[in-house]
Amino acid sequence: MKAIAVFPGTKEVQVVEHPEPQIERPEQVKLRLLEVGVCGTDRHICAQAFGSPPAHSDYLILGHEALAEVVAVGDAVTHLQPGDLVVPEVRRPCADPSCRACQAEHQDFCQTGTYTERGIKELHGYMAEYVVDDARFLHPAPKELRQVAVLTEPLTIAEKALDQALQIQRRLPWQTSAATSTEPGRGLSAVVLGAGPIGLLGAMLFVIQGFDTYVYSRAQAPNEKADIVTAIGATYISSETTPIEELTQQVKQIDLVYEAMDAAPMAIEIIQHLNRNGIFIFTSGTNPRQPYGIDSAATLHNLTPLNQVIIGTVNAGPATFTSAIEHLGVFQQRWPSILPNLITERHPMQRASEVLLKKPGGIKHVVTIA
Ligand SMILES: [Zn+2]
Ligand SMILES: [Zn+2]
Repeated sequence: MKAIAVFPGTKEVQVVEHPEPQIERPEQVKLRLLEVGVCGTDRHICAQAFGSPPAHSDYLILGHEALAEVVAVGDAVTHLQPGDLVVPEVRRPCADPSCRACQAEHQDFCQTGTYTERGIKELHGYMAEYVVDDARFLHPAPKELRQVAVLTEPLTIAEKALDQALQIQRRLPWQTSAATSTEPGRGLSAVVLGAGPIGLLGAMLFVIQGFDTYVYSRAQAPNEKADIVTAIGATYISSETTPIEELTQQVKQIDLVYEAMDAAPMAIEIIQHLNRNGIFIFTSGTNPRQPYGIDSAATLHNLTPLNQVIIGTVNAGPATFTSAIEHLGVFQQRWPSILPNLITERHPMQRASEVLLKKPGGIKHVVTIA
């Protein structure tokens, strides 16, 4: 079968012939891949910033944002059948029996760091015609979401961030009363940093949770991302025309910041403008080799007197995939003509290397497998 692989030695990305996998254990499922999204992680792997092939393989099959169709199931699989659409998880638990996180199916919090990840770390990914996977890592998606379910995995990043924020804010019981249980963001403002797929999907999630949502991103409006932000009822603010001081005047109180922009200096400066009891969530991380010349005392000055929390979050656990699929359904109903616009272009497998090695404009690029 055909697959798209990166060769770490040469940084080459090419279509390879790879043995078609077969079901070997009763709990396994064979999948035919439909589409796989491309993101910054894939591009970092191709540039050899990180990622590693499985042991004894010269290459790593790429792809972790997948949508697939079940073609066959092992004897022990009861919740899936051929024809079902599924979204697979990315991270797989480590083998260390003392890792309580992995033992509890929270491998996104793995304590040993010896987890594996499909298409990233020591396991082949989903840019292949067929894959065999354990049923417990597969999440059924309704057929109505066929055109957008490839966005599930990037949405899980926002789902986990929101879940972490809501768990932290249980410290404020007056805000998590029955009145706000369906819209926990009511009366609060959220600022999303960045208008890439993870930022825009996060903005959609914050809007449906009742947050007064702002997206702060580089490009001046009008542009296609700003149009999406406005259409979902959020406010787009360009950092080119609105410096951070003016942003804080416009938003008034920044209760939650969801960082998804890979621009640490700006993000860190915004920490200084966080509201009382506010939360700042990093999802993209910072580059340790790039000094920012930031006044760390000023950055952390308000943390204690204003009860603020700064957290980092990576990857997503099983429950987060379930809620992401559910919320994509909500987005689809609420914004049927907007949600599909997050997918800029679909590319055949033969053209995948162009999308992986360059960064084309637009929002989400997807490789069509079948
Ligand atoms: Zn990704
Ligand atoms: Zn672990």
